[in-house]
Amino acid sequence: MKKSAPLVDGFQRRISYLRLSVTDRCDLRCSYCMPERMQFLPRREVLSLEELYKLSLGFIARGVSKIRLTGGEPLVRRDIMELVRALGRHLGDGLEELTLTTNATQLAEHADSLFAAGMRRVNVSLDTLDRDMFTQLSRRDALPQVLEGITAAKTAGLKVKLNAVALKDLNQDEIPALIEWAHGQGHALTLIEVMPLGEVDGDRVDHYLPLSDVRAQLERRWTLSPLSETTGGPARYVKVEETGGKLGFITPLTSNFCEGCNRIRVTATGQLYPCLGGGERVDLRGALRSDDPDAQLESALNEAMRIKPERHHFDISRRGAAPAQPRHMSVTGG
Ligand code: SAM
Ligand code: SF4
Repeated sequence: MKKSAPLVDGFQRRISYLRLSVTDRCDLRCSYCMPERMQFLPRREVLSLEELYKLSLGFIARGVSKIRLTGGEPLVRRDIMELVRALGRHLGDGLEELTLTTNATQLAEHADSLFAAGMRRVNVSLDTLDRDMFTQLSRRDALPQVLEGITAAKTAGLKVKLNAVALKDLNQDEIPALIEWAHGQGHALTLIEVMPLGEVDGDRVDHYLPLSDVRAQLERRWTLSPLSETTGGPARYVKVEETGGKLGFITPLTSNFCEGCNRIRVTATGQLYPCLGGGERVDLRGALRSDDPDAQLESALNEAMRIKPERHHFDISRRGAAPAQPRHMSVTGG
């Protein structure tokens, strides 16, 4: 593939990782993510398959070597496998990794095709193994389907990493059991602090659980040996000596991880957000639908590099405060 100038922001961070939201829709309604009556976007506002593909090629040409498809739930988009197959053809030719973040409700159906298209790893969100708690948290009784999806992914040869949002008084007491189960199945698990993104029913502050507390509790039970590896991402990893498995912590609120940030996010409507926690935005859909899409896209990406902020400014400490960002995670792409 023809290469142009790499993406480097004003703080000399090289941007090589794109998180691309392919839909804002979802078949679950996780209570920390969206309200039950979530207002989804009209379909015409969402990028077409061709636009998503063209956009991805534009990023690959600028040195993006890793693309993660996300949402909303990427697997509810009907033509998603076409995009996966089209992008999969660029693996080894500029693109080094193509991956997916999913709730796994439809993973059983797609696991083999994902692997055949060149995907090797998926992230699956799983906050609980208790069916009632799952139904309470996601407002849908879908745990058996999700577990089936995880098994199918493993059988297909996909490496599965689990993500769990740690929630006070909800899945809090279950966290050690979740880790044991994940490690027993051969999956790494990453814990995430709930972030103030978009309005939900109720107040997230009630369920905010600092991972510093969780870690201290886990250290009473297990030996956690820090691992030096980082992915340029926000997770810090340890090995749990007793289970032999890997455990990650994503702590946007208790510690800042922006220094080594190598990523940007694009919404399903083609809005590029250079920071998950910031309001800065560049309209790529306008560029794509203009008379000179290549040139417009090029300058839009340059603009994104110019405005990428040094760090986010999340704060979840004030009860009843408005979210730090009005956008839901399902819009920006988790
Ligand atoms: N639907 C897919 C899934 O759940 O994996 C992909 C999109 S989802 C928005 C991506 C991740 O964001 C999930 O792991 C979810 O738990 C997490 N998430 C959503 N809202 C969040 C919030 N307010 N704070 C922290 N994590 C959140
Ligand atoms: Fe859907 Fe993922 Fe948000 Fe849950 S976290 S509602 S699965 S987008």
